[in-house]
Amino acid sequence: MLLTITTTYQPATDLGYLLHKNPARLQSLEITGGQAHVFYPEATAERCTAALLLDLDPVGLVRGRGNGEGFALEQYVNDRPYVASSFLSVALSKAFGTAMNGTCKDRPALPAEALPLAVTVAVVSAPGPDWPRRLFEPLGYAVETEAYPLDPTQPEWGDSPYYTLRLRHDGLRLQDVLTHLYVLLPVLDNDKHYYVDQTEAEKLLHRGGDWLPQHPERGFITRRYLRYLAGIVNPTLARLMEGTEEELPEPVAPETNEPGALPLTPAAVAAEAPEPKLSLHDQRLQQVAHEIYQLAPKRVLDLGCGEGKLLRLLLRQPKIEFVRGMDVSHQALSRAAQRLHLDELSPRQRARIELIQGSLLYRDERLAGFDAAALVEVIEHLDENRLAALEAVVFAQARPAHVFVTTPNADYNQLFEKLNAGDFRHDDHRFEWTRAEFAAWATGVAERHGYQVRIEAMGDEVEGVGAPSQMAVFSL
Ligand code: SAH
Repeated sequence: MLLTITTTYQPATDLGYLLHKNPARLQSLEITGGQAHVFYPEATAERCTAALLLDLDPVGLVRGRGNGEGFALEQYVNDRPYVASSFLSVALSKAFGTAMNGTCKDRPALPAEALPLAVTVAVVSAPGPDWPRRLFEPLGYAVETEAYPLDPTQPEWGDSPYYTLRLRHDGLRLQDVLTHLYVLLPVLDNDKHYYVDQTEAEKLLHRGGDWLPQHPERGFITRRYLRYLAGIVNPTLARLMEGTEEELPEPVAPETNEPGALPLTPAAVAAEAPEPKLSLHDQRLQQVAHEIYQLAPKRVLDLGCGEGKLLRLLLRQPKIEFVRGMDVSHQALSRAAQRLHLDELSPRQRARIELIQGSLLYRDERLAGFDAAALVEVIEHLDENRLAALEAVVFAQARPAHVFVTTPNADYNQLFEKLNAGDFRHDDHRFEWTRAEFAAWATGVAERHGYQVRIEAMGDEVEGVGAPSQMAVFSL
């Protein structure tokens, strides 16, 4: 299986910086079932091609699966080593994960550049010759497929389901191309070499959230990506679509429009803002919401709920009976009430949510008796010397069974182009902690109050600096 990416952007060798892979070296990495090799068949200032070659071992694949009942030829003689599949997606994210996340340390402005790109994949398996076109053309690619006869000596047998795929785009960020391939190649192939569960849905929302909702084949893509698991496919499609309807118009709330400006339609907003991305913050909230769902709690607190983004996700989970959001800011609370359309809810839904004003620094009876509490990007808004008060309020007095605390990871800040060393990501942050500082605080809190704690990276990890954010999950 061979994938090549070619650019004629000048200087073309910038592709090496973008991919974080030096054009002068062959690099190999271990992946499940074999190896991936990255090399550059050509690297001049005019034209540069990076190649990703998968070398899968069919015998190794069988061994990995552990289905050793008897002997089935199909286990050993199959197309897995030759076809672009979920193995390729794993290899793409392993070899080019930093590029896929739009990070480039040496040339920080490069990931935002739209590049002329040509991609060749040899080979894809597809349900028919027009499917590659139906998946990639709506994303702006020129698509060509080359078919192969099942057996050149038996022309009457017709074509095989295998095609060489050639894509061209006049100007697209490399990050987008990698993401499209990552999602769509396994969709064409219609198989996954690993168990598919809710994590796979989160991956699809993360990687596809900003383009899939507008894609005419989003249903087909989502169903195949999630292996037709109706229990996962339907809620995922719903989340994809909800995101677009609700998120797009927000940046042009009437009060922020120019006086006299016409209200913008969602389509016009989409055209003006080419990247209505699932922001880092939205990803973070989805991760927290997902973790909370897993605990099947009945009563949940959102402390420092701000404008209620997490509250909205929590209310979507029907098993959660009651959610209380607290914030110190009246303004944030009234914005939350608006965004959640509290005054339009049915009495039954209205009874599930309450917004209260209060401070996390003062003991508050209203915080007692909850199964879970979230503090998403809140602690860094308090002076460090007030954290002991917050600790007493949350962990000694309120004592929810589970507490989720997220905060930026300061180790990651060096990757933010506009941030000078020592600066914080927001003016209102009083501190930002490294992974070691956060871990020390979280462990101390857990020990002092009898909680277990684990720490998770939030967002995609980059070698050496970790992920953009970090989360401590405390459990009694
Ligand atoms: N959790 C929200 C908002 C994060 S911004 C989200 O993820 O979208 C931090 C929030 O903490 C702000 O809304 C701010 O008003 C609130 N906050 C700051 N100090 C607080 C305190 N002492 N008690 C309660 N909320 C506080």
